[in-house]
Amino acid sequence: MSLKMPDVCRATIARRLEIAAELRRIVPDGVICTETELKAYESDGLTAYRQPPLVVVLPQNTEQVSQVMAWCHAEGINVVPRGAGTSLSGGALPLADGVLLGLSRMNRIVEIDYLDRVAVVQPGVTNLAVTRAVEADGFYYAPDPSSQIACTIGGNIAENSGGVHCLKYGLTTNNVLGVEMVLADGEVIRLGGRGLEPEGLDLLGVVVGSEGLLGVVTEITVRILPAPEMARAILLGFPDTRSAGDCVAAIIAEGIIPAGMEMMDRPATQAAEAFVQAGYPLDVEALLIVEVDGPPIECDILLARIAEIAASHGASTSRISQDEEERLRFWAGRKAAFPAVGRLAPDYYCMDGTIPRKRLSEVLERMAQLSDHYGLGVANVFHAGDGNLHPLVLYDANQPGQLDKAEAFGADILRMCVEVGGVLTGEHGVGVEKRDLMPAMFDETDLAHQQRIKCAFDPELKLNPGKVFPQLHRCAELGRMHVHHGALPHPELPRF
Ligand SMILES: Cc1cc2nc3c(=O)[nH]c(=O)nc-3n(C[C@H](O)[C@H](O)[C@H](O)COP(=O)(O)OP(=O)(O)OC[C@H]3O[C@@H](n4cnc5c(N)ncnc54)[C@H](O)[C@@H]3O)c2cc1C
Repeated sequence: MSLKMPDVCRATIARRLEIAAELRRIVPDGVICTETELKAYESDGLTAYRQPPLVVVLPQNTEQVSQVMAWCHAEGINVVPRGAGTSLSGGALPLADGVLLGLSRMNRIVEIDYLDRVAVVQPGVTNLAVTRAVEADGFYYAPDPSSQIACTIGGNIAENSGGVHCLKYGLTTNNVLGVEMVLADGEVIRLGGRGLEPEGLDLLGVVVGSEGLLGVVTEITVRILPAPEMARAILLGFPDTRSAGDCVAAIIAEGIIPAGMEMMDRPATQAAEAFVQAGYPLDVEALLIVEVDGPPIECDILLARIAEIAASHGASTSRISQDEEERLRFWAGRKAAFPAVGRLAPDYYCMDGTIPRKRLSEVLERMAQLSDHYGLGVANVFHAGDGNLHPLVLYDANQPGQLDKAEAFGADILRMCVEVGGVLTGEHGVGVEKRDLMPAMFDETDLAHQQRIKCAFDPELKLNPGKVFPQLHRCAELGRMHVHHGALPHPELPRF
């Protein structure tokens, strides 16, 4: 497995102790630089790649973040932001010559305003903590990644994270109203606000999903929603994945937007059932869990219609949850599906691509053919409603060559997503994992335009380099000149 990262600056590495001392001046009790302690930060959720950082700094407020950024900028040192480190695309993978800026200690809920229906939080607050803080008053925060117990709102912003309920309530980008952000040179800016219509250009939309490349988010204003009156789910089993895929498309085509619509294929269903005994049928090739929420009468009508649509697509199982306990049991298997699949093979590689819903059945069939071609199993557990696939490629890292094979299989799946009109990532980001596949989706002109945005925020390219872009051009090459202290960078390059 080879991952080309930017060339390291040996001179910076040689300055490790001096850099740690300077950072300790800014954050006296929050600098880590011993080899043993740095190991804890050497990877994120994409554990196939590891690199201990030069130094870790854990600021506690915006002022400290700003000073750290300003100092690193003046010294030309790379910075990698990190929340909880659950990224599955290597977005928080450290650099040998870079400072890892951990936001986990900035974990305060600053304000809850039920009149405006917003919560203002620091970036290290976990996703679930927002809901926990408002649920007693009948509110919740809608985006619900499966990692919500651990992942941070700062990380959610950077990855534009989603979850089961994003089909109806939107992704992070639809639930964030404003951010405070520290730029690469330490300047503190605010984007958006507390309302839906921000003033000026919608730069907030640019920042959400920017994978830590444009700035360090230090405060976030999110929408909180009143909890629905009730939620009910229906469990649907199908004799083949094509019927299940077509049923998903038909439900949406009917104009129904369920609160969640998740699919599991046979391997995932069987593994989940063996793991948590959720009562899933074991004789089906595909299982759908469709949840609706709202007033009871609306739930009844929608569930009845969904059951009819499923029957017309050949569903062999159709069970509507009769009480809250049963609804939670339906979800228990889905929620445990990832760890359950871990019992099928020593390792699995979790992919994340998005396709148009109407191509679902075709893509699942082609994935089965790829599985035969590579001789590696695959289990599918995914957000079917929004076409966001999470194939889990099964392999054994101890068998020579299997990881490479799993990565090649994964890359073929993502290329297929793009080929059928989808995109390389649904919610896990590009990071280092899909960086080199970007040309499968974007041509040079697209990539150059995207990088011009990077250059506008971070002209020295010091924030999270090596991520997202297959190749970083110097900003001057893209027609962007940054004059720092009166000196032109790269004077050898032609100007235009
Ligand atoms: C078991 C499991 C299940 C998962 N399920 C889902 C799911 O259902 N949906 C989903 O969307 N994702 C899921 N993920 C992926 C992951 O949890 C999300 O991407 C999450 O948003 C990452 O948050 P984090 O705090 O861990 O960020 P990190 O992993 O620490 O960082 C992720 C990226 O954000 C940047 N970053 C972090 N904080 C900041 C900040 N304050 N300012 C600027 N940049 C920052 C980092 O540089 C990096 O590029 C899952 C992961 C795991 C391990």
